[in-house]
Amino acid sequence: MNNEWIDLHVHTTASDGTVPPREIVKLAADIGLKAIAITDHDTTLGCAEAMAAAPAGLEVVPGIEISTRYHTAVHILGYYIDSSNAQLRQALDWVLNDRDRRNRLICDTMHADGLPVNYEQLKQRFGQVIGRPHFARLCVEFGLAQDVQDAFRRFVGKDCRYYSPRNFLTIEQSIALIRGAGGIPVLAHPFQYRLDDGALRELIEHCIDSGLRGMECFYSGYTEEQSRYLLSLAGEYHLLVTGGSDFHGENKSWIQLGTGTGSLQVPAALLAALREVHEAGI
Ligand code: AMP
Ligand code: ZN
Ligand code: FE
Ligand code: FE
Repeated sequence: MNNEWIDLHVHTTASDGTVPPREIVKLAADIGLKAIAITDHDTTLGCAEAMAAAPAGLEVVPGIEISTRYHTAVHILGYYIDSSNAQLRQALDWVLNDRDRRNRLICDTMHADGLPVNYEQLKQRFGQVIGRPHFARLCVEFGLAQDVQDAFRRFVGKDCRYYSPRNFLTIEQSIALIRGAGGIPVLAHPFQYRLDDGALRELIEHCIDSGLRGMECFYSGYTEEQSRYLLSLAGEYHLLVTGGSDFHGENKSWIQLGTGTGSLQVPAALLAALREVHEAGI
């Protein structure tokens, strides 16, 4: 019987979500999920709080979502990672320091425009991983933009005034780091890269050559047909199957925990397969 559901793609206030880890686990238990994975952007800082607050009957998987650059932006999820792993911590520190560098440039520009921004205060308010979604929110609060989408279009999107590029780990580095930390690397939301079948296969093959173990086949907004296509690719390439909503709270208010845009259902059996591979250490 298949009536137990999970959500393996969840952001918290440790990155750009608006719901703190301890509240997300409560929410997950309230809606009857059997497991969630905490997958914040380039940080594991939300995992410990979520795991400590998890009520009986809810498994919390320590995870991450690493942003990489390929021909396009590509996100690699990692599950069951040991966040104390030295190499992983060192690499995430590098990413965070580069983010700080970039964010200070954005703050300088906003400040030069007479906007009262202070980077240290931003970190106190939003946490360690400040990103463009936060700057977008500030644009709304300052009355410059109508909403976050509008702010991305006019202020923080690529080549806009409050945009500044940052540096990324590669796919190879990210997958090696996740595996080195005992985790399972998974290609996130394959349709978000807007690749045709040939280019998507090229990406998957490149990831597999780097040590990829799984692919996210169920995702908010993906149709049954799209998921079926991804499942067939996962089967063809012998990849584990995962799925999740990409919940961000109010920062992506159209996405609900567990059910995504309404129809998402990620079977709990998928996690059992993931856990088995993790525990076997293969
Ligand atoms: P950063 O890593 O700080 O450059 O910010 C990139 C993040 O902004 C991505 O992880 C996306 O989640 C988010 N993002 C990019 N474009 C948009 C958009 N149009 N609306 C909302 N969020 C966006
Ligand atoms: Zn995000
Ligand atoms: Fe992503
Ligand atoms: Fe995500």
